Amino acid sequence: MFCSKCGKEINDNAVICIHCGCATVNNRINTHSTTVNDDRDWSITLVLAIFLGIFGAHRFYTGHIAIAIAQLFTAGGCGIWALIDLIRLCANHIKDEKGHKLKKYNEEVGLSVFIIIFLLIMIGCIIFTSCI
Ligand SMILES: [Zn+2]
Repeated sequence: MFCSKCGKEINDNAVICIHCGCATVNNRINTHSTTVNDDRDWSITLVLAIFLGIFGAHRFYTGHIAIAIAQLFTAGGCGIWALIDLIRLCANHIKDEKGHKLKKYNEEVGLSVFIIIFLLIMIGCIIFTSCI
């Protein structure tokens, strides 16, 4: 290809023209793709969902601002909505606002957290039923 600034021939994959030092078309594509590729980290989302889930913190993080505000004002749908989000997150079913999957998903951690949640709910039910 040819440099758009000086018109000299350069390598098709060059990000900078070796003749004039200007950024090439590749450079613009690369910088663009890095902004598109800012996928959210799965483990951070999980931690936010566990500790701040009822405030919709994980939804703020993944960019679902409308859902996040709704969760913030309903206390995560009285915890149920936040709990469903947490379970979906364990199965990696929550995506960011652009529809990208969260990066660094760890199936073992997801499964472990899911089992812990399940056990806590079971223990909670047992305690609750033994009180009445
Ligand atoms: Zn040039």
